[in-house]
Amino acid sequence: MTKITVAKGDGIGPEIMDATLEIILAAGADIEIDEIEVGEKVYLAGNTAGIAKEAWDVIRRNKVFLKAPITTPQGGGYKSLNVTTRKFLGLYSNVRPCMSLHPFVKTKHPIMDLVIVRENEEDLYAGIEHQQTDEVVQCLKLISRPGCEKIVRYAFEYAKQYGRKKVTCFTKDNIMKQTDGLFHKVFDEIAKEYPEIDNEHWIVDIGAAKLADTPEAFDVIVMPNLYGDILSDVAAQITGSVGLAGSANIGEECAMFEAIHGSAPKRAGQNSANPSGLLQGAVMMLTHIGQTDVAEKIQNAWLKTIEDGIHTNDIFKEGTSKQKVGTKEFAKAVIANLGQKPSLLKPVSYDNSTALNLPKYKRKPAAKKELVGVDVFVHWPGSNPDELAKIIQQLDTDNVTLSMITNRGIKVYPEGFKETFCTDHWRCRFKPTENGVVTKKNIIEILTNAHVHTIDIIKTENLYTFDGVATYSLGQGQ
Ligand code: NAD
Repeated sequence: MTKITVAKGDGIGPEIMDATLEIILAAGADIEIDEIEVGEKVYLAGNTAGIAKEAWDVIRRNKVFLKAPITTPQGGGYKSLNVTTRKFLGLYSNVRPCMSLHPFVKTKHPIMDLVIVRENEEDLYAGIEHQQTDEVVQCLKLISRPGCEKIVRYAFEYAKQYGRKKVTCFTKDNIMKQTDGLFHKVFDEIAKEYPEIDNEHWIVDIGAAKLADTPEAFDVIVMPNLYGDILSDVAAQITGSVGLAGSANIGEECAMFEAIHGSAPKRAGQNSANPSGLLQGAVMMLTHIGQTDVAEKIQNAWLKTIEDGIHTNDIFKEGTSKQKVGTKEFAKAVIANLGQKPSLLKPVSYDNSTALNLPKYKRKPAAKKELVGVDVFVHWPGSNPDELAKIIQQLDTDNVTLSMITNRGIKVYPEGFKETFCTDHWRCRFKPTENGVVTKKNIIEILTNAHVHTIDIIKTENLYTFDGVATYSLGQGQ
């Protein structure tokens, strides 16, 4: 018996959760349900996180969480409960199988069967944003080695367990050489440990185009958070319906399972919502807790029900579908099919599938880190970079001087182009006059000089080498 936390959510949430629980209990799931209240009511009672402390205690104690969609009220500083849950519980891996159910659900891609493994905690989603000048705001893109290692290893282990043949990585490392570059580098390192699984890397733009056009070319795709967020919705949509997909959010301690769609408030209370997405989440939950025989039985009964043409309104098509049913009737039909298998769609077999047991991240020995310069970011409303250079040269110290100015990454001094459009946000790079190191004291001197000359410094960024390798970007055109 496994105790699981259940939240029925908002909108269509309670209806699809009731249908899902009815199916999994009828199939013999050995679970005890611990229900918590999260979402709209909690938000509107004044809790901007949408979840009370007591509910967190239940989730953390049970470690397995089946969650229906919730409504995040507009405005008012309400925080998305999904993002908060993923981060607080360290649910680093978002796994979303996207499979077409041709010819029973209309799709342009009849032989699509892929799984997107999305990094779930890092990237631009760290939510660290600042306005720095009148004209410029920034968002920090953070990618860590442990984050990359964990997600890439998860993708390969998942492929191994589910007999998948290939893992593809999508990044934009031709532009973001440090951040996406690290993700790609770690992918190449870990791929070597799995010689029996094919691996490949695509630049995300052309990879996304290929995914939308020829999804049958892919098997498992692993990607950083933002690309994964966007492309997992694209992949689910092109199977025929986002209403049919579930997802798992997996961490080292806890896991959360859900449908990928929202709470569809306009559809609430009409017994018309499709419970399939949440049911798919529940099937992943059952394999996660080792109840693979029950998961397999449900999945095959669900495939058979879709194949029988018993469809809810969202996927009902005259000619293909046989019977339009409501949420409750759909659940009854799946229950009636328990023990049966589809005949045209491929039945599933989950032998040996259970929670993946990944090794803990091991920190590598520290590299030799040397400070070799500093980028000083300046708010300056002028437009002539040569004029700014004269002002900034007042900050030079005896051994550290201005070497370059860029605007939005493009070199504008020395020898810039007059055609380059400039904003009020300037990066002024200081390097030692002769080869050598820079000290923190030099940086303090530069900042003190800026204070004396009333130059508006908005931030500094230290330039380092790690084991002699420069780990900062050059100016474009440098
Ligand atoms: P939505 O996914 O709720 O609805 C989009 C469209 O799909 C609507 O036309 C809806 O009727 C339809 N749809 C969705 N699920 C369906 C189902 N199971 N059966 C039949 N039709 C279905 O997206 P939205 O309208 O942008 O968002 C509504 C609310 O859901 C918002 O408050 C949003 O914040 C929230 N939301 C929650 C989650 C979550 O909890 N995981 C995810 C996304 C959105």
